Amino acid sequence: MARIIKFFETTLRDGEQTPGINYFAEEKLEIARALADMGFDTLDCGFAISGEPEFEAIRLIARTVENAEICSIARCYPDDIDRAWESVKDAAHSAIHPFISTSPLHREVKLGKTRAEVLEMARTSVARGRQYTPNVDFALEDTTRTEHDFILEIVGAVMQEGVRFVSLCDTVGYALPWEFGALVDDVRREYPGVHISAHCHDDLGLAVANALTALQHGAERVDTCFNGLGERAGNAATEDVVMAIRTRHEDLDLDVRVDTTKIIPTSRLIARLSGMQPQWTKSIVGANAFAHGGGIHQDGVLKDARTYEIMRPADIGLPDAERRMFVGKLSGRAALNAQLHELGYDLDPDQLRCAFTLVKNMLGKKKTLEEMDLRRCAETAVNPTAAAEAYTSEAASTAGE
Ligand code: MN
Repeated sequence: MARIIKFFETTLRDGEQTPGINYFAEEKLEIARALADMGFDTLDCGFAISGEPEFEAIRLIARTVENAEICSIARCYPDDIDRAWESVKDAAHSAIHPFISTSPLHREVKLGKTRAEVLEMARTSVARGRQYTPNVDFALEDTTRTEHDFILEIVGAVMQEGVRFVSLCDTVGYALPWEFGALVDDVRREYPGVHISAHCHDDLGLAVANALTALQHGAERVDTCFNGLGERAGNAATEDVVMAIRTRHEDLDLDVRVDTTKIIPTSRLIARLSGMQPQWTKSIVGANAFAHGGGIHQDGVLKDARTYEIMRPADIGLPDAERRMFVGKLSGRAALNAQLHELGYDLDPDQLRCAFTLVKNMLGKKKTLEEMDLRRCAETAVNPTAAAEAYTSEAASTAGE
């Protein structure tokens, strides 16, 4: 029986720390609803003490969304913890999430605190949170650049205070997967009862690999952001972790309890409200994730999509019609035929050969073809004499662009 992993979905917190994003309260609520409806366990909704609008937005979500746990993060200061609890306490399910930097660099440069002081702040913050709720998670910011013995010391201390999840954080995206796996092993060996969440950033493009490795080594939860949003290069992308596990669940012996068919609608909602479109080649949700450009690939996909697609578009909520056969310089006749068929043309083999030549010639002069261009090529192929004149004069005018 595959182990079901949990999500600490942080699109509304780390994701909103993406430079350039600012959600209004109603927008945060709309996103929170979509995430809760997909089945994510805990929604990290924001940093309550950071300001009035953020506090109000978290409280609005807490009072409205009942089908997920609503969480606010907090620094290790009494006022932060109190404010975080205040923002989520009306929720059907609530949690708070204090954090503190543990690495020597952060302790010295950022906090100006000793190991002993940081340890004490972690301990007292979890204890304070526990006076409000049993759902107190704790994050060691910059865990992966922290002394090994200090990581264990802090984890032991917060566990003594009754912490629920401990987040091991690759805050700066520095870890390699096997290092992160070994870290999870070490913490679990020292504290067999620990519940670990993996917080991974993508500075080296390893966030998803690190998160999956942590899960394989016994972490029970992952922190993720939709569309790979988040500080700098972003967090482990929610859709990547979900579909990696769903697609390879037998080999990973893990699974997710998430409605994957809402991935595309949710991704698009977040892209619209954040104003940030995923890059075209972004896994799962990029515009090209199910598009085919090479003739050999296109021919394969048209015969049987499994030749070049490891997921079914329907499984992520992508309409079949949006699987794109790109007609470009490297594409093949099968794709052109399929494309023209959709535009209402039924060409015989000779006509198709002719249209194909016209398309390739046109692509020597134009970067990309519009529907109109394809129609023109098809018309010319079907009726060379009638279309020839119009086409030649058009082509001459576009060539100069
Ligand atoms: Mn982060």
